[in-house]
Amino acid sequence: MAMRWFVPFVAFVVAVPGVAHASDRPAPHAVGESLANGVVALALGLPAVLLLLGLYALKARRRSDRRPAPARPSRRWLRERATKELAELTAMLPPDPDAPGGDYATRAHEAATRLSDVVGPDPDGEADPMLDLVGVILLARQGMTVLAEGTERPRPPCYVNPLHPPATREREIGGRGPRPVCTECAEAPPAAFITLFLRTPDHRHHFAIPGRWQSTGFGTEGRDLPIEVLESLDSGGGPVPEEGVEGVEGSGP
Ligand SMILES: [Zn+2]
Repeated sequence: MAMRWFVPFVAFVVAVPGVAHASDRPAPHAVGESLANGVVALALGLPAVLLLLGLYALKARRRSDRRPAPARPSRRWLRERATKELAELTAMLPPDPDAPGGDYATRAHEAATRLSDVVGPDPDGEADPMLDLVGVILLARQGMTVLAEGTERPRPPCYVNPLHPPATREREIGGRGPRPVCTECAEAPPAAFITLFLRTPDHRHHFAIPGRWQSTGFGTEGRDLPIEVLESLDSGGGPVPEEGVEGVEGSGP
């Protein structure tokens, strides 16, 4: 890949008089001029190389953004992604007063910011901070989505893994009934389907962890996720009152 940038640079330098032909037995009086031309060529070429390297880094970063969401994300991946996506939502605020999703985006931003502060800059590997960071990412994405699409509320997230794209349909999940899922999860054959679930570092499904995320289902219950998260934070971090949600231990849904 680096050759793609290097070749144009070489072509550029070779095309500059006095650089490519400096070895063609120049007359002594021409040596100083050739050196000067070489310095000029480098001065002109270096910014071009830096620009190309910057474009390459940007392309690499965009590729990394398109990678599928991991089923068992590392705490470092979650912390970096949460910080990045919350900053992107912050940059879109305050919303236009007439923006349909302005209120939701503002609530989502407040909930995500408070969650991020609760977790801190260096979370340990336990389940609660990990799921809180998933919540930060989800809330930030939902805030950006409603502003970008001009909608009052976001679509529900994928219950299998809230880091997936938003839900497009429902799928039966074990004894839990039909739940909103993204297109990939809706169409995955059973053997692949069980590998897609978001799990904690100790291999439990996210919905097996008691707390605010189990009780809210990351907003898949149809309620307002930012409000539920803010209420949970105001009550000291405990779970929002549940509606018959049970943890599921074991190998799969
Ligand atoms: Zn999914």
